[in-house]
Amino acid sequence: MALRNIVKQGDECLQKVCRPVTEFNSRLHTLLDDMTETLVDSGGVGLAAPQVGVLRRVCVVMNEEEEIIELVNPEIVATEGEQTGLEGCLSVPGRFGIVTRPYVVRVRAQDRDGNFFEVEDEDLTARCFCHELEHLDGHLFVERAEKMLSDEELEEYIRRMEEMEEDED
Ligand code: ZN
Repeated sequence: MALRNIVKQGDECLQKVCRPVTEFNSRLHTLLDDMTETLVDSGGVGLAAPQVGVLRRVCVVMNEEEEIIELVNPEIVATEGEQTGLEGCLSVPGRFGIVTRPYVVRVRAQDRDGNFFEVEDEDLTARCFCHELEHLDGHLFVERAEKMLSDEELEEYIRRMEEMEEDED
């Protein structure tokens, strides 16, 4: 396994529509292994292949149990509800915005050996599915954000979230 370089906003890899994976070979497995290592190293929750310069429909998502879900040729097949919240991206470091997404998202994808499966999740992981799949079509969350936050607004937002969590305890 090896860490891969994460490309940043402005790189043309992030604006391309990625091609489907057709060969489920050792090259794909190495890509997936490297993407997982790169994701864990970066402290993020999702990474799409174009973010490491590979224009293929592949992404990895870490769910709230910290399990890695490998998605090859993923498609959203069902959504439910709505959530509005803070979103960021490893390719847009230091910038965060408010984005509205479905609350529940069901994805159909292939695993590293080409077997089809479906996975459904909610909240942050559902947000992540939407965000990563958009990367595969050349889009960044900043295009969708209803508002990008300044540093002060970000601090204020995080403080409010922490207060809300304390109230719940
Ligand atoms: Zn991203």
